[in-house]
Amino acid sequence: MEGCLFCKIAGGAIKADVVYQDDRVVSFRDINPQAPVHLLIIPREHISTISDLQEQHRELVGHIFLVAGKLADQFGIAREGYRVVANCREAAGQTVFHAHFHLLGGRQFGWPPG
Ligand code: AMP
Ligand code: ZN
Repeated sequence: MEGCLFCKIAGGAIKADVVYQDDRVVSFRDINPQAPVHLLIIPREHISTISDLQEQHRELVGHIFLVAGKLADQFGIAREGYRVVANCREAAGQTVFHAHFHLLGGRQFGWPPG
């Protein structure tokens, strides 16, 4: 989608610290990390929010969680624990309107989130 930051990162037009990619998803380090490990996992397809996911995205969402688990292993946070977060729209603090999943680890997290 024209003008979308994460579409540009997925397409390579804007550089990011990419740690994983395949035909469906791209993962890269968050530019403003909130934990020692803070990766974003995005679908290559432009989907504005997780509320816009459709039946056709069922496989894609499963794939994203499998990739998250593999990256957690790879980055050494799987054993101690980690968090996967998807902020949906303004009240949750979504700032980039291309659906994405944060993979956070390497520190203790509080609950409930602020
Ligand atoms: P959210 O607030 O859930 O929409 O998350 C958007 C995330 O994207 C934030 O954590 C930002 O730090 C991150 N971000 C914004 N621009 C970039 C960029 N160019 N490269 C990597 N991460 C980015
Ligand atoms: Zn996009």
